[in-house]
Amino acid sequence: MNEPTMSAFVAGPGPVQLGQEAIAARVRELGAAIARDHAGQPLHLICVLNGAFLFMADLVRAIEAPLTVDFISVSSYGSRTESSGEVRLVKDLDQSLKGKSVVLVEDIVDTGLTMRYLLQYLEGRGPRSVKVAALLSKPSRRVVEVPVDYLGFEIEDAFVYGYGLDVDHLYRNWPFVTSLAGERPA
Ligand code: IMP
Repeated sequence: MNEPTMSAFVAGPGPVQLGQEAIAARVRELGAAIARDHAGQPLHLICVLNGAFLFMADLVRAIEAPLTVDFISVSSYGSRTESSGEVRLVKDLDQSLKGKSVVLVEDIVDTGLTMRYLLQYLEGRGPRSVKVAALLSKPSRRVVEVPVDYLGFEIEDAFVYGYGLDVDHLYRNWPFVTSLAGERPA
């Protein structure tokens, strides 16, 4: 069987292109900042599945401090690419948040509706603090204001995929972020 090679990955033609090196360098910076800001605290990272799984995997390895991890999954009603704001919990947390310094790890903040739901949900579970780490943010698309304490990259309004983000469940394994030109998929 042939091994997959980098030539199997063909970048999209859109305006947002983030290479492996740029992502790795930024993730190292975010990891260092999270470790510094939470020194001596019970640091607990929560990955929002599925899109943040690669970001989470790289981010935790960039944090030189003791930490614990958990995973949550939500789905939003609406079309495939437009969030409606109505969010449904698909997979709940396994661990208590009582007294923990939580960092919620998300792939992208678009309208902000998913993040607002998640923050309200986590705040109700008694954490010591909750901060947000997001690989990407599209501020021009925001419908509700949400804090992003550790941001990888601010990007323009393009539909992006790769490095955990999908188009119809595909391309999550691409090691870089790329984008579609023109219309977002329906
Ligand atoms: P929001 O609730 O509108 O902020 O949407 C958040 C979720 O929509 C993200 O966690 C992604 O799963 C998805 N999403 C938003 N923009 C994109 C994109 O450009 N590519 C892939 N997924 C996206």
